[in-house]
Amino acid sequence: MAYKINADLCTGCDDCVADCPTASISVKKGVYVINANECTECDGDFDKPQCVKVCPIKGCITQIAA
Ligand code: SF4
Ligand code: SF4
Repeated sequence: MAYKINADLCTGCDDCVADCPTASISVKKGVYVINANECTECDGDFDKPQCVKVCPIKGCITQIAA
């Protein structure tokens, strides 16, 4: 399982990138994206997904349904 960034809500503040323990967040053509193959949901690193924790926009980063 993984998280995704909803591009419609993302403001491009860049806060999430540095806090991802697996470096799964990148910017492609100005759009912030999470590599679902690399996102671990922070399992083993943190109790809560760090990107969701730092993102200032509610609902911007959500879990991909399994
Ligand atoms: S849930 Fe954790 S591992 Fe996945 S993108 Fe967010 S910060 Fe990175
Ligand atoms: S923290 Fe949220 S609003 Fe900021 S770049 Fe990341 S996904 Fe976009």
